[in-house]
Amino acid sequence: MSAVDDLPPLREVIRRHGLSAKKSLGQNFLLDLNLTARIARAAGPLASVDVVEIGPGPGGLTRALLAAGARRVVAVERDDRAIAALGEIAGRYPGRLEIVAGDALDFDPRPLLGSAPARVVANLPYNIATALLVRWLTLEPWPPWYDRLVLMLQREVAERVVAAPGCKSYGRLSVLVGWRCKARIRFDVAGSAFVPPPKVTSSIVDLVPRENPLACARPALERVTEAAFGQRRKMLRQSLKSLGTDPSALLDAARIAPTARPEDVPVEGFVALARAFAARC
Ligand code: SAM
Repeated sequence: MSAVDDLPPLREVIRRHGLSAKKSLGQNFLLDLNLTARIARAAGPLASVDVVEIGPGPGGLTRALLAAGARRVVAVERDDRAIAALGEIAGRYPGRLEIVAGDALDFDPRPLLGSAPARVVANLPYNIATALLVRWLTLEPWPPWYDRLVLMLQREVAERVVAAPGCKSYGRLSVLVGWRCKARIRFDVAGSAFVPPPKVTSSIVDLVPRENPLACARPALERVTEAAFGQRRKMLRQSLKSLGTDPSALLDAARIAPTARPEDVPVEGFVALARAFAARC
């Protein structure tokens, strides 16, 4: 029996189902149910919420989400070995855990969700974490089908997610996040909390979609940030040349100094640049 429910301890689940961690699947499991309960709490009240979990593995976080009262958890897992273990949790919480065996990169949860906004809560496999995050940030229409993303990321990625202008970590991902969401780091999790322990520290990041992000075409925003941060030490009048249009006119239209460097430009500045670029192309 465990701290959150009457299911067996996770170490026993892992042993019974032969769930030895595979590096290729980014498997670093959380076995401390106090920690998984803390992550579930960081996701706020869950009683009327459908939660999407990516990579439940042996189900530590899944159990915490269900014990915290999530209306339903839709969990997508690529490792077939974990599916039977998750079935035991589904049996303990009838009708509240939907297990999808498959690749999160090919998975659209919308048909499985209720009409209210869902919430994504996940200890993400690190090899696909940024790809998933970018996908969730670039959904159309906006606001998206989720009201919050509560994600375990590598600390270094988390710092890029929340970075403000002037910070070393400020870059393309920070601009995309800042354009569409408000993001903050909730707490760090030491490598020693995972089995096996990764070499790096991780962080729980909380992203809440902005109702009305500044209007701009996403492809244009991605083009200008790619050009600007692709040569981040250069002044924008130089780096934006790669866009194939006159950088001075773009910078003038966006009211940004030609000598500015990308790390000095706030999200609003990149949005203005994207608008000016879209207008010329
Ligand atoms: N949630 C569990 C926990 O906290 O202990 C496991 C987290 S582990 C960091 C990442 C999980 O994602 C693993 O269970 C792994 O099998 C799964 N995974 C890896 N790649 C995946 C993919 N493309 N789609 C779905 N699940 C994936």
